[in-house]
Amino acid sequence: MGVDRQVHIKDRLLGRGLAPLVQTMYDQALPEGKDELDQLVRRIGSLNAMGCDLIRFSYPDNSQKEAFAYLCSKSPIPVVADIHFDYQLALQAIDAGAHKIRINPGNIGARWKVDEVLAAAKDHNIAIRIGLNSGSLPKGSDPPAILMSNTALTYLNWFEQAGFTNTVVSLKASDEDLTIEANRRFAAQSGYPVHLGVTEAGSVVSSIVRSTWALGQLLSEGIGSTLRISITGPIETEVQAAVELLRTLGLRRRGIRIVSCPRCGRASFDSQGFLASVEQELLGIDKDLTVAIMGCQVNGPGEAKSADIAITGIGNAIFLYQGGALVRKVGLDEARDVFLEAVRNA
Ligand code: SF4
Repeated sequence: MGVDRQVHIKDRLLGRGLAPLVQTMYDQALPEGKDELDQLVRRIGSLNAMGCDLIRFSYPDNSQKEAFAYLCSKSPIPVVADIHFDYQLALQAIDAGAHKIRINPGNIGARWKVDEVLAAAKDHNIAIRIGLNSGSLPKGSDPPAILMSNTALTYLNWFEQAGFTNTVVSLKASDEDLTIEANRRFAAQSGYPVHLGVTEAGSVVSSIVRSTWALGQLLSEGIGSTLRISITGPIETEVQAAVELLRTLGLRRRGIRIVSCPRCGRASFDSQGFLASVEQELLGIDKDLTVAIMGCQVNGPGEAKSADIAITGIGNAIFLYQGGALVRKVGLDEARDVFLEAVRNA
């Protein structure tokens, strides 16, 4: 194994033993108008409140430079530019204020072009991710996991020869087993931080299951300094899923852990509707709490005992529990406000 490296991305630090960071990627072209950009900055703020630490944007051409620069200056979390093929775009994104860029040196072309990008990144004190995807590797006869890992080590060697070490590496595939094997191989040979992800993982259910299966194993082994759960769906869901995975693995304390009743024939209260009405607010509350939303008297009081705040809905009323003790009964019209107030004040 190589020397453990710590990497900084603006004010965030990554490395082995440090808490993994959550990343998402904006799924549209950048808006141009200032109002729309400010709206996007507010959305990034909401993502940050949910637990997102880094956000990546495509940088497909220089027409977005002004908007990108504005976001870099206003975003509450570090901004990453995703670059393909053209090293000039990397230089422009760095000049615009990117806190990190993601490149695949193999598709940037001549090595002197990569060296120019490294020099600019060093001058601006930013990070680079070497982003390798199983679909775009150099030709080779080795099995894919070995080829991915060896390619990453070759590029890292280039970077080190240019005196650049503020580097993160990702080895992604749409095949979960390949993702696991490539990352294990790489982590056994290098101390550089790894960004984890399963690419093109599909719709919400498919991508969460597949990503959790692969990333959960790697994170449990201490592999992975940042992660993205790529979903063909809202980026808020990506962040929610990644935070939930980290919480489940005991790698993050921050955020609300939700316990909720799935409903059955005994339910006389719409726990699904109630959860839907409070979930977004709960995800934005920066506290380490367990809350329970239960649908009847069978399991409600029991779950309430192990939750910080709980409700059990029965008919047209909810029973509110704090620290396991029943404190209030209120009608459904007040239920949402009373519950959220109790969570905020807990
Ligand atoms: S809490 Fe009650 S309503 Fe909900 S699933 Fe359990 S038994 Fe059914």
